[in-house]
Amino acid sequence: MEFSSRRRALLKVIVLGDSGVGKTSLMNRYVYKKFSQQYKATIGADFVTKELQVDDKDVTLQIWDTAGQERFQSLGSAFYRGSDCCVLVYDVNVLRTFETLTNWHDEFLKQADPVHPDVFPFVLLGNKIDIDGGNSRAVSEKKAREWCSSKGDIPYFETSAKEDYNVDDAFLSVAKVALQTD
Ligand code: GDP
Ligand code: MG
Repeated sequence: MEFSSRRRALLKVIVLGDSGVGKTSLMNRYVYKKFSQQYKATIGADFVTKELQVDDKDVTLQIWDTAGQERFQSLGSAFYRGSDCCVLVYDVNVLRTFETLTNWHDEFLKQADPVHPDVFPFVLLGNKIDIDGGNSRAVSEKKAREWCSSKGDIPYFETSAKEDYNVDDAFLSVAKVALQTD
């Protein structure tokens, strides 16, 4: 964590998950309050910033978007180092995107190489819960929460970037857990 002049905490957050799960959409919803149906593959990595208050602390989240289809190594481990939180995203309607979470999780730890990997903060987002009123779900909330427990009680949020459901709450939680890494 770094501090600017007014002791505003700058927190580096990396968003990971398979291509198409809604990583870019969640960030656009959170930071710009907008949503697009159009799919535009993210190239490489890019960040957006969002200023918020957590309790009485001024915080800037620097949220890094990544292209899920790229091989993990392509960004280089320097990119992941110094992260304060890793947000994992899957699509509740696509089983495969849930099954790859362990790989994203483990690869992140390998690349970021945090001092205390066992307590490094992750947050899991199960996105696109709006689709078909939840009738096309491939992963139950229970199953997702079990995975979170198995990885050391990762906070879990079910979200819809499209309907703006739970997105602010999820990123507030991201800021809270990221603040704990000092
Ligand atoms: P990324 O590859 O993980 O960055 O995924 P995108 O954010 O580009 O989203 C992939 C596609 O899913 C786009 O067509 C989005 O409009 C759509 N999408 C993203 N989030 C949601 C959501 O919450 N609900 C629905 N119905 N579609 C979504
Ligand atoms: Mg993207």
